[in-house]
Amino acid sequence: MQFRDLKKQYEALKGEMDQAMLEVAASSAYVMGPKVKEMENAFAEYVGVKHCIACNSGTDALLLALKAWGVQPGDAVFVPSFTFFASAEVIAMQGATPVFVDVDPDTFNIDIRDLIAKIERTIKARQLKPRAIIAVDLFGLPADFKMIRAVADRFGLYVLEDAAQGFGGRIGDRKACTFGDISTTSFFPAKPVGCYGDGGAVFTDNDEWAALIDSYHIHGKGSDRYDNVRIGMNSRMDSLQAAILLVKLKAFKDYELEEVNKVAARYTQLLHDVVKTPEIPQGFYSSWAQYTIQVANKEVRAKLQEALKAKDIPTAIYYPIPMHRQTAFNDLDMATNQCPVSDHLADRVLSLPIHPYLSEADQDLICNTITSHLLLTPHS
Ligand SMILES: *Cc1c(COP(=O)(O)O)cnc(C)c1O
Repeated sequence: MQFRDLKKQYEALKGEMDQAMLEVAASSAYVMGPKVKEMENAFAEYVGVKHCIACNSGTDALLLALKAWGVQPGDAVFVPSFTFFASAEVIAMQGATPVFVDVDPDTFNIDIRDLIAKIERTIKARQLKPRAIIAVDLFGLPADFKMIRAVADRFGLYVLEDAAQGFGGRIGDRKACTFGDISTTSFFPAKPVGCYGDGGAVFTDNDEWAALIDSYHIHGKGSDRYDNVRIGMNSRMDSLQAAILLVKLKAFKDYELEEVNKVAARYTQLLHDVVKTPEIPQGFYSSWAQYTIQVANKEVRAKLQEALKAKDIPTAIYYPIPMHRQTAFNDLDMATNQCPVSDHLADRVLSLPIHPYLSEADQDLICNTITSHLLLTPHS
């Protein structure tokens, strides 16, 4: 069994996909070809935002947003501790200081009370200038952007939505990638919409930032490619990846997003009496980048993983080390970065196989293995 069965997906899309890839091969427009513009337009239209700038990864997309805002040494950027490393890494790459915020134990997303507390403490300490909040749509579920926006307005901060895992999620009728002043996503193969390598995108309604990001992502270009007006990056999207993403977006819209939601609903129905299952707040819709359960403790989790592995069922721990405990951030003051819920989750979370092509038979095997193992093994 596969954790995320990309092979099954390729087989389902093969006819269209092979044609799309061969077309690019024959076109010889491998970099910045018309496919990239087409992809940017399709993705901007899908999420409902004015500008989409395609780039080389979700990490670069975050970095480009911070560059557009001129985030620099002496600035504080607030970011959840329970996330993938890149969400925090980009802050330090700009020379700014990440301030780690705890998360909600039910949604895995940024905790509003702790966010306010960490902002107020940073203002009081007078060492750093608060600039932005990076809110992550973890595991596919949009963060609580109504509250995040209220906090950002109160303290005069920018909101950056890290929707690397959140593409396709919604709050009411509004889609992920529209909640930030700038929003970003990743097209790494295992994300809700993935390409066949690395890729990412930046979304914004702001013309000025869009123009800056367009410049930064191609060597700080000015009016023409050899007129360089600022120090930028090489972070273009390949035409091949853009062509692949156009096929993927269509399948995602047509049935994949709906299918993965059916798989998630079935997991919850089969497992909610046995383990703590993920909670989706009223009015929210997830794109299920992960389906993550919580068990009693680290030992129970290790034994459960073993029992599943014995049946050839892969699982993963997202994330075993929260950001405030990462070696790379050793120089930060631990006392001001405490995140007890993130610590708690790191020992208890377990992500199960999920993707739109997971069969009911495989899902039954997973759920039966979990249920019989946990009911037959004594644990506290
Ligand atoms: C995957 C991921 C990223 C980085 O995306 P890449 O395309 O791998 O660079 C950033 N933030 C989160 C939350 C992610 O899951």
